Amino acid sequence: MWRATALTLFPEMFPGPLGESLAGKALRESVWSLEAVDIRRFARDRHGTVDDAPFGGGAGMVLKPDVLSAAIEAVAQPGMAKLLMSPRGAPFSQARGRELAKGPGVLLVCGRFEGVDERVIEAHALEEVSVGDFVLSGGEIAAMAVMDCCVRLLPGVMGAAESASEESFEDGLLEYPHYTRPATWAGPDGTERRVPEVLVSGHHGKVADWRMKQREEITRRRRPDLWARRPAAKMNEEK
Ligand code: SAH
Repeated sequence: MWRATALTLFPEMFPGPLGESLAGKALRESVWSLEAVDIRRFARDRHGTVDDAPFGGGAGMVLKPDVLSAAIEAVAQPGMAKLLMSPRGAPFSQARGRELAKGPGVLLVCGRFEGVDERVIEAHALEEVSVGDFVLSGGEIAAMAVMDCCVRLLPGVMGAAESASEESFEDGLLEYPHYTRPATWAGPDGTERRVPEVLVSGHHGKVADWRMKQREEITRRRRPDLWARRPAAKMNEEK
């Protein structure tokens, strides 16, 4: 069973959205397990102090190294990746999610306040992971995003209907547009919008070509960074 352990000051936030839908069903079926451990349990005084003012001054509070380290030592399992949710971390990716899903599980440290004492990151060799170039008020939502990405990649979680193979990022391209019935739909302004003719043509080869063209076009326009890094581009460079 793939294990996720979150170290957090707000364990009651879990499983939250991960208790529903695909991830929730997999949780109930013991495809994965989720444990949210309260960092405050490892406080060393009777007030339950977990944070302190930063050396050097400045705004906000910092999670104490002694408390956080004791928490990590108590829950870390051999072979488990140790992640720290952090806006200055490496951008989390589908590729990293796939690797993590292959392993025994993850420990996710959720920061709060200004962040955590740098020495804990060093001492435990925590892998700093960011879910995007924006600042959240805590690591919990970021940790849930990482867990959700990994869990849907575990064997048996996604059925054939939700197959991951053609999804965004899997081969360096974004997804093609989707359409469903009715074939003609009048939007709020009354304009009739018809689905692209090729999709109702019944010609599978043409549909596949159209979808690939759409994926390339959308990726090139919206994400020039992905477009430049796509595997096909690298192959051309090597030639
Ligand atoms: N002072 C920090 C922000 C702290 S936000 C800075 O300027 O970088 C508080 C906590 O929320 C962080 O410790 C981290 O665990 C989490 N967090 C905030 N934004 C995040 C992001 N984009 N990705 C992952 N975790 C994030």
